[in-house]
Amino acid sequence: MSDLDNFRQETKEWLDKNCPPTMRSGAPSNAPVDEVWGGKKAKYKNPESKIWLDRMGEKGWTMPTVPKEYGGGGLSKEEVKILNEEMFAIGARQPLLSFGIWMLAPVLLEYGTEEQKQKHIPKIIKGEIRWCQGYSEPGSGSDLASLATKAEDKGDHFLVNGQKIWTSYADHADWIFALVRTGPKEPKHDGISFLLIDMDNKGVSTKPITLISGKSPFCETFFDDVEVPKENLIGDLNKGWTIAKKLLQHERKFISNFGLAAAMGSKKDVVSIAKKHFGELDGEIANPIFRSKVIDHKMKEHAFGLTLQRAGDEGGKASAVASMFKYYGTEHNKRRHELMVAASGINGLAWDGDEFDQDEKNLTRAWLRTKGNSIEGGTSEVQLNVISKRVLELPSS
Ligand SMILES: Cc1cc2nc3c(=O)[nH]c(=O)nc-3n(C[C@H](O)[C@H](O)[C@H](O)COP(=O)(O)OP(=O)(O)OC[C@H]3O[C@@H](n4cnc5c(N)ncnc54)[C@H](O)[C@@H]3O)c2cc1C
Repeated sequence: MSDLDNFRQETKEWLDKNCPPTMRSGAPSNAPVDEVWGGKKAKYKNPESKIWLDRMGEKGWTMPTVPKEYGGGGLSKEEVKILNEEMFAIGARQPLLSFGIWMLAPVLLEYGTEEQKQKHIPKIIKGEIRWCQGYSEPGSGSDLASLATKAEDKGDHFLVNGQKIWTSYADHADWIFALVRTGPKEPKHDGISFLLIDMDNKGVSTKPITLISGKSPFCETFFDDVEVPKENLIGDLNKGWTIAKKLLQHERKFISNFGLAAAMGSKKDVVSIAKKHFGELDGEIANPIFRSKVIDHKMKEHAFGLTLQRAGDEGGKASAVASMFKYYGTEHNKRRHELMVAASGINGLAWDGDEFDQDEKNLTRAWLRTKGNSIEGGTSEVQLNVISKRVLELPSS
């Protein structure tokens, strides 16, 4: 047996022994399903969610390619592919959703000191600390570099004052990675630093923003005379813009995956919804016009999936190219949800009431949520600007 065959066998056995029954799809169970984000404030409705997180975290398989010295799995690209295939084969749930994994840890690996890596990455991998992202401010979204939250040098610490907005899940987070202005006199891109701030620090507060749906997925985050130790600065003073951009590339790479049908709100596929509403003819959606729309959509999705896979196989490092995938993936996800709502006929846009089933009500909420996909991590218009400047290298004016 080759090394990879051995690895597959061991992985299979390990998953079989350690993946709890309710963490596998298809397992007959009424156990509640958790969205597992980890952190000190986490609550688990299903105890097996925590068991699964702990086991995968201990193994380092929540970030399988990260070196073992930082608590990762230390796996090669080929081994990660096998791990994913074997998890897929038993329908294993992702043990952890995490801004730390998708965004912060990759830039810490690139820009952090050895001490910073040792301190933060293992806790991200084990889901012990939950992170949020402090980039946007009331006056700084697309023009992020105009941000005004200031961090003054006070000798052994920075004194941070200002406000962030749209900070997803800040009220559940333990720490925030934030962009702050440390060089008020420098040109705007040259006066920004990248700072890690413990949300338990005196002077940090959050105020959830309540949406029309009643949910509060994001917050305003305030910093009032917050003392942050100097050791929490990542990279050099006033050089945070480079790190900020790199983190956005990792974020955009992650968000691109929403374009694949396996992402949010897709427990029911557009085909099954359309068959329910339009009926079936020879196993196909009966309505020929809608059927051709779905075929066109599915072909684009398949091509997108293959392109993402090829980019990954060819190295897939975070770069400006992530803007292309982010743009296409999020616009495609919006179109898929539009199609699903259209396919639901008069049960589309279900919100409340006994005449609708839970899937229909969930779909409306998921459809609304997709509208944010082409805004979060930078809007589609901003992605097009990045693509024209940084990928196609077109002249600016
Ligand atoms: C679901 C969701 C989650 C989010 N989570 C976070 C988070 O956790 N942390 C965080 O820091 N932020 C978060 N954000 C904020 C997000 O990053 C910003 O909303 C986004 O960058 C746009 O900024 P803005 O809202 O200020 O819009 P604006 O920048 O005011 O843009 C308004 C409109 O003008 C267009 N526009 C602006 N400038 C240009 C230009 N140069 N060329 C062409 N068009 C332009 C935009 O495309 C947009 O259509 C989140 C947003 C959403 C929707």
